[in-house]
Amino acid sequence: MIILKTPEEIEHIRKACLITASVFEAVKPWIKPGVSTGQLDRIVDETIRSQGATPSFLGYGEPPFPGAACISINDEVVHGIPSDTVVLKDGDIVSVDVGSYLNGYHSDACRTFLCGNVSEEVKNLVRVTEESFWKGMEYAYPGKRLGDISHAVQAHCESHGYGIIRELSGHGIGQDLHEDPEILNYGNPGKGLRLQAGMVLCLEPMVTLGSRQIMLTEDEWTIITRDGKPASHYENTFVITDDGPEILTCPERPRL
Ligand code: MG
Repeated sequence: MIILKTPEEIEHIRKACLITASVFEAVKPWIKPGVSTGQLDRIVDETIRSQGATPSFLGYGEPPFPGAACISINDEVVHGIPSDTVVLKDGDIVSVDVGSYLNGYHSDACRTFLCGNVSEEVKNLVRVTEESFWKGMEYAYPGKRLGDISHAVQAHCESHGYGIIRELSGHGIGQDLHEDPEILNYGNPGKGLRLQAGMVLCLEPMVTLGSRQIMLTEDEWTIITRDGKPASHYENTFVITDDGPEILTCPERPRL
């Protein structure tokens, strides 16, 4: 069931989204060789709690997720568990996926950061992943369909020869972290749900340098690429308005 949000609810979500956006500013200076993902996670946790919110991911699922953020390095696609024994190295890419829960509403976003000197090949992967989100936003208007967004993401990434993860998707968001609908990163234009003003959604391309095949590791959370090649992830929470998308977790670029 898709829950359209009232202006009051969107205002609650907007506040939660600004807290999530502030996390990226807080962790950015700490993306450097020698810093552990456990340290990054404590910065995330403190940044969220200092603004009166709680981390949406902490304790989520089964087994309960143990971190405030999912922090995934290189061939880890998503859901990496922060740890004091995982230390960033020069040339790594680091995705920080985070949600904040405030006044009964969630927010959710992800950035993939570059640690030190990253190869041009991998930098391009990160850039194209982010670009594909914005290509999708060009169709986030009332009357368009979910497939229009999904296809735009897929077409952009595949035009660069990258793989699109199919087993994981974006989602609606609100009082629950994951609500309907499911938002695939591949699809056919003109197909799927018709978009309406008041839908609050998360689009999150997960893109691989090599094959799109993935596997779950023994910790029961971390998802890695089967071929060991790097993967990139980018996500924002946005609301469909009559004037198109407002990107709530991206205060530096809230509109197209
Ligand atoms: Mg998400």
